[in-house]
Amino acid sequence: MTDIRHNWTTDEITALYELPFMELVFQAQTAHRKYFPPNKMQFATLLNIKTGACPEDCKYCSQAGIYNTGLKKEKLMCIEDVLAAAKVAKEQGSKRFCMGAAWRTPPAKDLAKVAEMVKKVKAMGLETCVTLGMLDAEQTEVLKDAGLDYYNHNLDTSPEHYKKIISTRTYQDRLDTLENVRQAGIKVCCGGILGLGETRADRISLLLNLANLCEHPQSVPINNLIPVPGTPMANNEKVDAFEFVRTIAVAKIMMPKSFIRLSAGRHDMSYELQTLCFLAGANSIFLGDKLLTEENSSLGRDQVLMETLGISSL
Ligand code: SF4
Repeated sequence: MTDIRHNWTTDEITALYELPFMELVFQAQTAHRKYFPPNKMQFATLLNIKTGACPEDCKYCSQAGIYNTGLKKEKLMCIEDVLAAAKVAKEQGSKRFCMGAAWRTPPAKDLAKVAEMVKKVKAMGLETCVTLGMLDAEQTEVLKDAGLDYYNHNLDTSPEHYKKIISTRTYQDRLDTLENVRQAGIKVCCGGILGLGETRADRISLLLNLANLCEHPQSVPINNLIPVPGTPMANNEKVDAFEFVRTIAVAKIMMPKSFIRLSAGRHDMSYELQTLCFLAGANSIFLGDKLLTEENSSLGRDQVLMETLGISSL
């Protein structure tokens, strides 16, 4: 029986979560090794190309215009600056360059500029990814024509918990964008955030919704909430570290061919916790000091960890 499945049930996922920790991590590492070399990591860099003043109300986000987070708004970056950042990212060892803009959906004139950025970054020999908010079929085609490799659009959490996090767009809106991206032949980067006040049942439901898409997202970022002062989630309770690792392991077992990216919140994790995440099947990280508007693990710190673990670039 193939292990690439799209018919996961809540009971099956619950049973995975409830496995003894060692057994779960062993199963995840075994699934991981079937499709990926064990001592390799994918390195990517994420640059915010348009900052703040977003009309959406995602309760965790520093860039939502309705929260007073003290963030300095910035218009779309000029192409020269983006290319300069891509050059640095490449020199630092990143293979993928991701560009994020705080929009509900990209305005036409800006989309054309982003398409140009995609073309030029790709010409530098980097994989490209953008996250620009909702896309219709026409907008998706513009990006496809520019040669875009990946589009990031997260589900964030379960459909049940979603209403408590975002009111300005629906879960179905997100699924529609993902479908437009897939239909256009662009690879999908889609995951979620832990620490939004969700329960384990919500985490299970998020993973079910991700794995039961008609194609698994090729990249699955699992974020740990960075509580941003000024947002409604500033004082959220931290997710238990073992629960976080369990979520990574279950995601890997359910979507073994996908890159699981240990994304936001990594700067706060010890080397040992990051290592447990890698053991559970996470094999992608963002390099660089900044992740959109928030702090990321420093390059020097990551180099030490990779050297210690004998992990090299994929
Ligand atoms: S997460 Fe994205 S869509 Fe939501 S407020 Fe932030 S920038 Fe806007």
